[in-house]
Amino acid sequence: MDIYENILKENYQINSKVINFVDKCEEKIKNRYEDFSKIAMYNQVKILKAMQDSKLQSTDFSWTTGYGYGDAGRDKAEKIYADVFKTEDALVRPNIVNGTHAISLAISSNLESGDHLLSLSGRPYDTLQKVIGLTSNNKKTLLNRGIEYSEVPLIDGHIDLDSFKDYLRENTKIVMIQRSTGYSNRAAFSIDEIDKACRTIRKLKKDLIIFVDNCYGEFTDIKEPSELDVDLMAGSLIKNPGGGLAYSGGYIVGKKNLIENCASFLTAPGIGKDCGLTFGMTRQVLQGFFISPKITEDALKTALLFSKAFEELEFYVIPKSDYKRSDIITAIRLESPEILEEFCKFIQFSSPVDSQFTPMPWDMPGYKDKVIMAAGGFIEGSSIELSADGPMRDPYYVYFQGGLTYYHGKIALLNILNSLNNKELIKIK
Ligand SMILES: *Cc1c(COP(=O)(O)O)cnc(C)c1O
Repeated sequence: MDIYENILKENYQINSKVINFVDKCEEKIKNRYEDFSKIAMYNQVKILKAMQDSKLQSTDFSWTTGYGYGDAGRDKAEKIYADVFKTEDALVRPNIVNGTHAISLAISSNLESGDHLLSLSGRPYDTLQKVIGLTSNNKKTLLNRGIEYSEVPLIDGHIDLDSFKDYLRENTKIVMIQRSTGYSNRAAFSIDEIDKACRTIRKLKKDLIIFVDNCYGEFTDIKEPSELDVDLMAGSLIKNPGGGLAYSGGYIVGKKNLIENCASFLTAPGIGKDCGLTFGMTRQVLQGFFISPKITEDALKTALLFSKAFEELEFYVIPKSDYKRSDIITAIRLESPEILEEFCKFIQFSSPVDSQFTPMPWDMPGYKDKVIMAAGGFIEGSSIELSADGPMRDPYYVYFQGGLTYYHGKIALLNILNSLNNKELIKIK
């Protein structure tokens, strides 16, 4: 008997069979955990060295007021991001409100009316469809501002490099690639696949801007897309790189002239990166960045344990448990509305915050079907923390991610399986 079996039984009434089952799954994937640990170690060195090289010091965490001139901490945070992602420059700000804003800012500020934006990864993430104007008629969408848009459909979940040239136009300016799964049913693109795409793009048209949406991908590998022939990349601080500590924010890294355009859009031409109060958030932003490799490692381990357990129970899981991961998302095809609701309920009940609430399917703006969401994090909407959601439609996929600690992820999995087993929605022998 494991030393924790009693405390799990006393507090959560977990059946021994369920504990046994999860421990066995863990045993089968333990060798993969070593790969994650090496990746985390590698990235920890990168980040530590960048902090030392920038001479980060305790006084950098104090902040100014008003215009925010001479905020040393803000400037160092951006230098550290640029160093770690190996880019010429970076924009890391608490007033980039989320990942969508970071991506929208990166793209919009580098396109003029008459330019063409081409997505190489098929249909982009839901919120970006609005930014582009595919699902919104807001006056400021890219389409309504005179920017052309098209996309190269994926083939079997992979980038179609053979067809790419047929979609290129004289005025194509930015090619965008979304690394992570998002709400689709494909695995995240590996660094290798993104690398091949970059090489093909450059061969055909040298001066294109290659942009990568890196949401959920940070520190899942030893290389970031920005280390490839990528010009611009963006992500959210309430996902991997915020380490669960950043209150808000987004980052954009890349070529100096492109970052300058982003800064001119975020603030104003002539002001750029020189102004912008950090409201004392530099400490959380950098402490979160510092622990991000470890937090991401635990999110990866949690993801793998869930994948393995649900595969053993004969559910279809993306990515497969033996697949090399490139983000922290797992999609599980749960096949039934009862299982989807139960899954989300027990993610919520297993959370440190708001555990007393029961998630219910609701009519979320912008979605056709009802959506159920579970999240009980310290930071609202933070999806590096344990969270899950899914649309209430056949085949009832749940998208699940995060877990600040592996132990928390494991407790949640035990609670979910225990309840499904008690209700005879699954059978654990
Ligand atoms: C999370 C995410 C975004 C941005 O989402 P926000 O909720 O605005 O932070 C964009 N693209 C992908 C692939 C994502 O996973």
